[in-house]
Amino acid sequence: MMLTSRFSARLLVVFLIASSMSCLWPIRLPASETTPHVGMSAAAIPDPQERSRLADQWHQAEAEAKSRLWTGLLAAQADATPNQSLWDVVSCDLDLTVDPTAQTLQGAAGCTAVVTTIEPLATLDLDLADGMTVSSVTSDGVPAAFTHASDVLSITLDRVYSQTDTVRVVVTYQGNPAGDAFSWSEYDSQPLIWTLSEPYGARTWWPCKDTPDDKVDTVDLRVTVPDGLIAASNGTLLSDSVSGGWRTYHWQETHPIATYLVSLAIHPYTVLEDVWEYAPGQTMPVVQYVMSDRMPQIGKVLEATIPMLQILSDGFGLYPFTDEKYGHACFDWGGGMEHQTLCSLYYGVTTNWHFLIVHELAHQWWGDLVTCASFHHIWLNEGFATWSEAYWYEQTEGEAAYHQDMASKAYYGPGTIYVADPTDVHVIFDHDLTYDKASWVVHMLRSVLGDEDFFAVLQAWRQKFAYRSATTADFQQVCEQIWGGDLGWFFQEWIYGEYFPRYDTRWYARSAGDSTAVELMIRQTQQNLGGIFTMPLTIRVVTDQSTWDRRLWNDSEAQLYQLTVAGTVQDVVLDPDNWVLHQSTCSMTDVPLASAPAYIMRTWPNPFNPSTTISFDLPASGPVELAVYDLKGRRVRILVSTRREAGSHEVVWDGRDERGHRLPSGIYICRLSTVRGLLTRKVTLVE
Ligand SMILES: [Zn+2]
Repeated sequence: MMLTSRFSARLLVVFLIASSMSCLWPIRLPASETTPHVGMSAAAIPDPQERSRLADQWHQAEAEAKSRLWTGLLAAQADATPNQSLWDVVSCDLDLTVDPTAQTLQGAAGCTAVVTTIEPLATLDLDLADGMTVSSVTSDGVPAAFTHASDVLSITLDRVYSQTDTVRVVVTYQGNPAGDAFSWSEYDSQPLIWTLSEPYGARTWWPCKDTPDDKVDTVDLRVTVPDGLIAASNGTLLSDSVSGGWRTYHWQETHPIATYLVSLAIHPYTVLEDVWEYAPGQTMPVVQYVMSDRMPQIGKVLEATIPMLQILSDGFGLYPFTDEKYGHACFDWGGGMEHQTLCSLYYGVTTNWHFLIVHELAHQWWGDLVTCASFHHIWLNEGFATWSEAYWYEQTEGEAAYHQDMASKAYYGPGTIYVADPTDVHVIFDHDLTYDKASWVVHMLRSVLGDEDFFAVLQAWRQKFAYRSATTADFQQVCEQIWGGDLGWFFQEWIYGEYFPRYDTRWYARSAGDSTAVELMIRQTQQNLGGIFTMPLTIRVVTDQSTWDRRLWNDSEAQLYQLTVAGTVQDVVLDPDNWVLHQSTCSMTDVPLASAPAYIMRTWPNPFNPSTTISFDLPASGPVELAVYDLKGRRVRILVSTRREAGSHEVVWDGRDERGHRLPSGIYICRLSTVRGLLTRKVTLVE
């Protein structure tokens, strides 16, 4: 197993304290390798704080906007109807006339599907908002009866279909789809019409099986607009013809596409065409649909598109739609949307907005090529795209820029990344969890697996689920296959669990000849929030001779480690390069930890009135006495006199003596005795 072989070589010097399940993976690195990474200095990074502020602002905006008007969403809308689980959509062909003057959309939508179950299929349910009016439906070319209610168009098929049969329906419909997913906007007094359908908006403007776990293999989109307007969409432009003052664009997306990624962007755009040579002699068009008066600003950002295509292809494998195109179509929504092969992009972006371009581009791999199977797993889209922003900075500016960007994404609040209720769009697009904390999960996974395995995971993830949809469990399985071990602990605590660990680290150093023995106690103090975390942690020991990085396996409330280093210890730092989402305190102690009667003893509040809580952590089970003495040495109260198990304990002292009498204000001594010795703390009782 890879896990064993990888770490056995590291079990060299340091041993495990027997009382705990902890283990320690020492890695003695040459001094040159253990020097903190320098990368590009912060000062050399252009406006890093402004950049972080903008990115944060935009993530908020994207999250809020994606969830902005979906509050009325019904639970039923997030789920496929039972009928929809009986068939697989093969292709859709839309023939739409978009009239900006009348603000109407009318046309026909064809849907071809294959029956996938042995259950006979007599009807076919398509999602279509009630706001659209269906005038007729055909099934295999024959007029078909239908009902249209609760945003579901239920079609009675021309006959009963069996498994593997192909069903073909065509819906003729019209209406004004204005709303969350379809906007009749204007720019410079010209129509600016756009769609943004994530998560459940495709059904508001075209009939479809509106779920990301059944991608449409091929979409043909013929869109007719008044001549003078340009209609941009996914895939390749097959034809462009003018007739009677109207212009028809035929776009075709030949790679499977989730319904929420099918898009329209219509405006008298200025079209900029470039070419990316992704391999010798092999090129792909890069097309930008922009407003010409915005070019001085946006042009500088769009210049980065081709370098980004190259860098992300180097990291994640070749851009998945090279036989079609990549590009942006500007709209007036203040962010971006990862429409397949043609992202929608706020027209006002300017310098410092590279994070947005790279975020949407990264979605072409993580979101479009491999799509979350349901919005329970939206982090698989947004976490990776948000992490990719930092990855871009790392590749272009160095490790310091990577870590600086990740630091700006740290989130320490409640909530799970897994979306328990995908009918609440505010929860799906929770900025803190779905974007920021999820990007930290990707970042932490990189550290847990190591770069080699991490990037191998990305390749395998892509290979296994390309042009398909997948869940968190699917991703975990890919990670485990590459890593060669169980990662349930990681996904459980970071995806399905809340919060983060708080580490309280104490260290004690004792020199013996040329070497120094270091005792290290790491306590997790967040137990009430999120439970105990399992994580490998890097500890950096700085001595007057060298810098030593050690990888420790940490998985319980209090763990003691012993290591040996050369020289006099000057400092000990937990997670020096910020690979774990945590908060911590780290301090030196002059008491040997291994033989301590208790790892820690605290009183709070102190001074107190009327009571104080005394907490202590025992390194081992055994008899314990906790008693209170006055300053004359008289024992005034026994609080504990019994056997206690190893771990954390709490006792409340109410400031009274054995007979229940209130003691006078003043200083008292709490004395904890165990078989390993005594520990005392002063407490002050106040009036
Ligand atoms: Zn995104």
